[in-house]
Amino acid sequence: MISRVKAAVTGLLGGSLSSKQSALPAPCTPEKETPSVPVAKPQPPCRPSFLKLSPEEFQKSGDHNARIVLTLETPEELHWGTGYAEVINAGKSHHNEDQACCEFLVVEDSDLKHNSLQSDQNLNTDLQILCKVNDKFSFYYWGLFDGHAGYGCALTASKLLQLQICDQLRELVHILQQTTAAPLCLEPDTRNRNENVSGMSTPEITNPPAETTMRFHLEKQVFPESLVIGALENAFKQMDKRIERERTTHSIDGGCCALVTVYLMGKLYVANAGDSRAIIIREGKTIEMSHEFTPETERQRLQLLASINPELLGNEFTCLEFPRRIQQKELKKRMLYRDHTMTGWAYKTIEEDDMKFPLVYGEGKKARVMATIGVTRGFGDHDLKVYNSNISIKPFLSCMPGVKVYDLDGCDHNADDVMIMGTDGLWDVITDREVADIVQRIFTSHGPDQSNRYNLAAQELVLRTRGVRKENSWRLPTGKLASLDDISVFVIPLAGQGR
Ligand code: MG
Repeated sequence: MISRVKAAVTGLLGGSLSSKQSALPAPCTPEKETPSVPVAKPQPPCRPSFLKLSPEEFQKSGDHNARIVLTLETPEELHWGTGYAEVINAGKSHHNEDQACCEFLVVEDSDLKHNSLQSDQNLNTDLQILCKVNDKFSFYYWGLFDGHAGYGCALTASKLLQLQICDQLRELVHILQQTTAAPLCLEPDTRNRNENVSGMSTPEITNPPAETTMRFHLEKQVFPESLVIGALENAFKQMDKRIERERTTHSIDGGCCALVTVYLMGKLYVANAGDSRAIIIREGKTIEMSHEFTPETERQRLQLLASINPELLGNEFTCLEFPRRIQQKELKKRMLYRDHTMTGWAYKTIEEDDMKFPLVYGEGKKARVMATIGVTRGFGDHDLKVYNSNISIKPFLSCMPGVKVYDLDGCDHNADDVMIMGTDGLWDVITDREVADIVQRIFTSHGPDQSNRYNLAAQELVLRTRGVRKENSWRLPTGKLASLDDISVFVIPLAGQGR
């Protein structure tokens, strides 16, 4: 088994792998007889409906050699004048496995609950907003879904996650509306507002007025903001459960990362599960609005899980990390290591167990969990196994998002202040600063009166990171390798839109 993993990793490290999942072939057990249960047809590939592609344009968009950058027909296509652009990968997968969604949704009170998620919805048609119109409680929504090992999971999440969020928020309508209209304050807010429930820093969070604090006769203070965060977290959980339930009947393949932004009651909530990223550019400065979840950033969580449940390692992997692979001749010798409790390194004497393959191995984009997958959060992957084994990867993957909150209405913004949401195809070859500089250059040449400027900024970001084709490769202006991945970008203006 270890030799199998070794061979797989050698292939990984030597190649130009850019997908999140290793290029290992999936275990194949072909059916010799017609299965008795009909197999559902997979959803046909498609691009976001707001791009309004004709069949011919859709066909051309899939050309891995041309890599045509797609963008909106008119700047009014998306709410707030949001800009969007995308391009397909350079051949790592047949279809563009990124998906995007931009919606305005209205939530009704749970007493009027419309059981939208129970309805027999056709996943192959564009989303219809099923929530009843109510002008008192609504939210704006942007979502990017970066699929791997197929587009099915990303496509499903792009069509349904917003409804899961709607369903969770529905339970809160009466509480949140009451909070706005009739505060339930019993005590002033003394909590440290620079830390939200996800344990992440929340830049630009301003202390809410004391009267927005709720106690509900509980011993702990509960803030409206943390109720929304909880709703997002539960929506992600429900989405992953639904994909698990319906992956066979709807032939939902692979997995996906998810990055969504919700604007609700004056605040932007950015929920991220995976390695897509969001930043805010405000007065030329960049503010990180998401945290990447990769085998490296989540090493300690993965190691802790494995140390508590060693059976998950299938007696083939070690949960310890070493600075390099241990060789047989190093048995009983001293070597640096770290476990789930450590961020630094210490020495230990190498034992037989340490010769197993590391649970987390590789660096940067080549880091993998069990030599198999390069992201640790997102939806799907319920059937993913370590190559040629029965060891399941899913227990190590989490669908839980990290959520950051930005007090949009509490800050002044000008027309050049934007939020950038991008899949890793964008961020792999460009820094936050470079993104801010590119966007600024577009805004300098296209003033605030030009409604297409956000779309042009999105288009320019994709063009720059896709690069140009030179000698059978794609190159950045610097000559370095450009992004070979699918690239999808939203540019969301922050000044006075929709409020
Ligand atoms: Mg990607």
